[in-house]
Amino acid sequence: MTHSQKPNNFIQQVINSDIESGDVSQVITRFPPEPNGYLHIGHAKSICVNFGLAEQYDGVCNLRFDDTNPEKEDQEYVDAIIEDVRWLGFNWQNDVCYASDYFDQLYSWAQFLITQNKAYICELNAEQMREYRGTLTQGGVNSPFRERPAAESLALLEQMKNGEIDEGRMTLRAKIDMASANINLRDPVMYRIKKMAHQRTGDRWNIYPSYDFAHGQEDAIEGVTHSICTLEFAANRPLYEWFVANLPLPSKPRQYEFGRLNLNYTVTSKRKLKQLVDEKHVEGWDDPRMPTISGLRRRGVSAQSIRDFCNSLAVAKTDGVVDMAQFEHFIRDDLNNNARRAMCVLDPLLVTLTNYGADKTEQFTAPGHPNRDDLGERRLPFTHQVYIDRNDFSEDSSLSRKKFKRLVIGDYVRLRSAYIIRADQVKRDASGEISEIIGSIVPDTVGQDAPEGIRPRGVIHWVSASSSADCTVKMYDRLFNKAAPDAGEGSFLDHINPESLRIIKGCKAEIGLASACAGEHYQFEREGYFTPDSKSSELVFNCTIGLRDNWNS
Ligand code: ATP
Ligand code: MG
Repeated sequence: MTHSQKPNNFIQQVINSDIESGDVSQVITRFPPEPNGYLHIGHAKSICVNFGLAEQYDGVCNLRFDDTNPEKEDQEYVDAIIEDVRWLGFNWQNDVCYASDYFDQLYSWAQFLITQNKAYICELNAEQMREYRGTLTQGGVNSPFRERPAAESLALLEQMKNGEIDEGRMTLRAKIDMASANINLRDPVMYRIKKMAHQRTGDRWNIYPSYDFAHGQEDAIEGVTHSICTLEFAANRPLYEWFVANLPLPSKPRQYEFGRLNLNYTVTSKRKLKQLVDEKHVEGWDDPRMPTISGLRRRGVSAQSIRDFCNSLAVAKTDGVVDMAQFEHFIRDDLNNNARRAMCVLDPLLVTLTNYGADKTEQFTAPGHPNRDDLGERRLPFTHQVYIDRNDFSEDSSLSRKKFKRLVIGDYVRLRSAYIIRADQVKRDASGEISEIIGSIVPDTVGQDAPEGIRPRGVIHWVSASSSADCTVKMYDRLFNKAAPDAGEGSFLDHINPESLRIIKGCKAEIGLASACAGEHYQFEREGYFTPDSKSSELVFNCTIGLRDNWNS
């Protein structure tokens, strides 16, 4: 977008005026995840906003890990985040950035603030610090260590860094204003002692910077012009600006906040998602029921539909809860346009066609997609025995044609892209359940209208019994049975839907699906959209979504 175009959100308005005034010549943004969990759909929105703005303004967006707290971070998360951002379709011109690469620079800026009499080593413990901090309605009280000489603070900081002081004994605090109405400005902590190895810096550091001391400075090092974060950081902005004003930074970034994306019937908090994983309520971070990018991918949701959904949402100054149905609209729309058609019988019932040769096979074809020639054709072998879905058959011949457009004893139905058949009799097993339908084909009806006097009730899907692929299908329902699982009393875990996963074994798919691969999308006709599961060695399909919206039920 050039700045003469109409901006559609407040950040674009800011950027346009920054470009117009000459304050900014190149837009630089960043997506700054902390590697303490996998990315979720909320992060996707932030990714789309940050990378999207860089794209629109011919700028740059950095992927930067805010890896300042080794306690909760892990290389596994770093790798997963990189994979997810790439998969979403975004690229970064610069190398991946890490806050930990700036630890030396941050440390020297901390020393600088001490020498400026704007930071000091404090020996209040956590509890005392809380007491001294005051409340929303009451100002804080100065720490007794506030006027400690700079030389002493510098020496103590060095000792903290070298691991000579026990955890919890001291902190480095900015000297701002204990009476400020904004609690964030009441001498916030800049460094804490943590005698813990870091996944990238090893055991070099025994102190780690706080988010507030790190984030704006990281932005400044990278020349970030518009540091976009979510609303919960609005109260931290004055502190962000204080560091920018009081440090000799190479650039002067500014922070802007927009509303978080929340989806109903799920949770978008890494902490809660981690709890679901750790307590084994789901298979892992990429469980197809999870709102993580990796879960959505494994579920069969395309990157395009995630981007389209995120881009359809307002970049607003209020938090909002978006209806899952809105997301599903984009998922379904994309799959309807791009998923190959196929047939898979989830509850197979054998049909033996008595007037079709036991050794005979015909190869029928069907389009890969009704209006996408580029998706080619499928081969459908037709044989003496086929499977149809048990739900597509009834012995009740009084069922009206309108109500039951499927196979009924004594009546006709068309098998998709194949013959019209009739059901003549049923066979039962010892328990009385129907085990087989004995039927017959109506000759010369493939690709032809029904002959005079024969009116098939409808068209149903089928597969050849001898030439089909055995598979398992996993059907998913919403993970929580309450729209706002983390609102109200009790734990969000109380609202886990115990029936969110249904495994259907013994399904029969058309033979071409025997070689289906993860990452492919299929519409199983009359059933829904499916994708091969990336974590299974056998043929397992995850149901991405049904054909129609049934969330309103
Ligand atoms: P969580 O609360 O899930 O742990 P977080 O904000 O702590 O998320 P970060 O790794 O710090 O996770 O987030 C990286 C970026 O993504 C931040 O800029 C953050 O503001 C943004 N972000 C996180 N959650 C959302 C969300 N639900 N909607 C939009 N942006 C989000
Ligand atoms: Mg965060």
